[in-house]
Amino acid sequence: MRLCALNHRAHVLVGDLAIDLEVASGGTFSSDPMEAIANISAIAKFIEDEQPQGKPFASADLTNPVPSPKQSLAIGVNYADHAAEMHIELAPEPVTFAKFPTCLAGPNDQVVLPTSTVDWEVELVLVMGRDAYQLTADEAWDAVAAVTVGQDLSDRELQFAAGRQFSLGKSCPGFGPLGPWLVTPDALPNRDDLELSCAIDGEVVQDSRTSKMIRGVVPLLVDVTKHLALKCGDVVFTGTPSGAGTALNPPRYLKPGEVLTSTIEGIGTLTTVFVAP
Ligand code: ZN
Repeated sequence: MRLCALNHRAHVLVGDLAIDLEVASGGTFSSDPMEAIANISAIAKFIEDEQPQGKPFASADLTNPVPSPKQSLAIGVNYADHAAEMHIELAPEPVTFAKFPTCLAGPNDQVVLPTSTVDWEVELVLVMGRDAYQLTADEAWDAVAAVTVGQDLSDRELQFAAGRQFSLGKSCPGFGPLGPWLVTPDALPNRDDLELSCAIDGEVVQDSRTSKMIRGVVPLLVDVTKHLALKCGDVVFTGTPSGAGTALNPPRYLKPGEVLTSTIEGIGTLTTVFVAP
């Protein structure tokens, strides 16, 4: 099942049509996208049982499908090739930092480039469907309501000027675009092996597979929730493969007017447009 927000209201997508959840359910389900994530199993059953009719929609109306999680975090150094290009050593525990929730954005939000050193990182993003602390391997995927495409944008100069704490340089407004919609894990071709790629103005700069993660989704959630209590609706960026701009010689960063398209197999393509401050 695919879940999205259209003008900030929760919808289910069936083919090319969108079902307004609050309207179709006569108020049983809320229009709040965060409530839809919390009730995703009941919504799937409702759609299957009732088969409500959808309406055509404009992709320009898609807004952030996870607008207000309690926590938003990201994992660094989760692909060996990216660790090597960044000259970062592998750590015994997951390298975990905040993408503070105010940095999250939707698929149609233009992202302001505050400096000339903003870099891209395409990532599979997990959206938690329940509170999760000390998950076992068997529980890990079941605790994930849905996945989406995300960009872990970074101001590289600020990231490294802030010492070993990445969170500041990765949390400017708009630095966490998500979308275009959420997909439940059962709808993916192979939830542990998805192609992910991104391109700038059509030129591919990253192309890999989630099966190349150092910690795949299951070990990642087990190791993170050993220490951290995740809440329903939280988002987890799972790391990026090689191809970041800062690792190129000379480094390349995003420029105003450029269009970044980020694609994950079985989910879709997130388009991000950059503008000058
Ligand atoms: Zn990242």
